[in-house]
Amino acid sequence: MIDFNIPPFTGREIEYMEQAARGGKICGDGPFTKKCQAWINEHFNFPASYLTTSGTAALEMAALLTKVGPGDEVILPSYTFCSTADAFVQRGATLVFVDIRPDTMNLDEKKIEAAITEKTKVIATVDYAGVACEMDTINRIAAEHGLLVVEDAAQGFGSTYKGRPLGNLGDFGCFSFHETKNFSMGEGGALVLPNLDHRDEAEIYREKGTDRSKYFRGQIDKYTWVDYGSSYLPSDLNAAYLWAQLESYDTVYNDRMKTWNTYHEAFEDLEKEHLIERPQIPEECGHNAHMYYIKLRDIEERTAMIRHLKEHGILAVFHYIPLHSAPAGLKFGRFDGIDEYTTKESERLLRLPLYYGIGDENRQTVIREVRSFFGC
Ligand SMILES: *Cc1c(COP(=O)(O)O)cnc(C)c1O
Repeated sequence: MIDFNIPPFTGREIEYMEQAARGGKICGDGPFTKKCQAWINEHFNFPASYLTTSGTAALEMAALLTKVGPGDEVILPSYTFCSTADAFVQRGATLVFVDIRPDTMNLDEKKIEAAITEKTKVIATVDYAGVACEMDTINRIAAEHGLLVVEDAAQGFGSTYKGRPLGNLGDFGCFSFHETKNFSMGEGGALVLPNLDHRDEAEIYREKGTDRSKYFRGQIDKYTWVDYGSSYLPSDLNAAYLWAQLESYDTVYNDRMKTWNTYHEAFEDLEKEHLIERPQIPEECGHNAHMYYIKLRDIEERTAMIRHLKEHGILAVFHYIPLHSAPAGLKFGRFDGIDEYTTKESERLLRLPLYYGIGDENRQTVIREVRSFFGC
């Protein structure tokens, strides 16, 4: 059986986790957490980043930092994971779903302005499959209307937009290191601050509402409870796992890219014959091979393809059911404008197996069986 995903394991994870365990400090902000954060800041040139217990937790921190509350509206795509929405719903905000572009499955920047009202406070972007949204346009709209931009770059670790790394293109950026993402720590994530204006606030929210980070930096001699917050720090055991992967960043990146490119080339003729559509990467976007998907004619053909692949030992999976049609989406939000692409495109999309170390034999099997479905 070829799995859809196998969590990344590069070799030194156990060694580093043992080091963390024997080091006598396995709580948050230990040596491995610091190493990971420093690596991320240096590698991507970020002013500040904080490991969190999940991508969801990073989004919750971002939502806290935007200060949205009851009566405020947040614009977001309906085609996303529920955490993008949950973070704002927990603050009492109302969701306003906007349609996606069919080429990238990302928020359609041309449909955002029509959804803005006096109550709009935030635009939450999602970089689907690690491909950036049209961020310059979105940031311009946000600036014109005095809105904040939260970038859900959960899938975009290592991707770029006009040469700039994702995660610090808006006001607050969020990554995930869940086991399904390119780099993992089991459960985990990171919050990125594109500038240091909100550093103190972010550190307080992350440290249960205390100014403990300032205390550790020696800026104050006693720490205390100063605001609301939660515990968003991951254990250093998890950070140790991530550290092994960051050390092997290029190896993992290149291996995933090889799979992506191999699939992409192998399916070129299927696209030419209009049997499938392949992902489209806008010229200004550098992706991270987070996901390879194909689009079939419709949901029936997709179901048939899933069955065909399963019969040949391959697990391929569809993705999000649009949030606006989910029970919580109906309760907490509304869809603005016409659902031209969100539902239609989500029903056609199929993700193929892609994980670190998948190997050439598995790649070729996937390619062969996708082709054999069409008799090619
Ligand atoms: C994975 C993911 C999340 C959630 O990340 P967790 O680490 O699983 O909490 C949020 N948004 C998007 C778009 C994701 O892909």
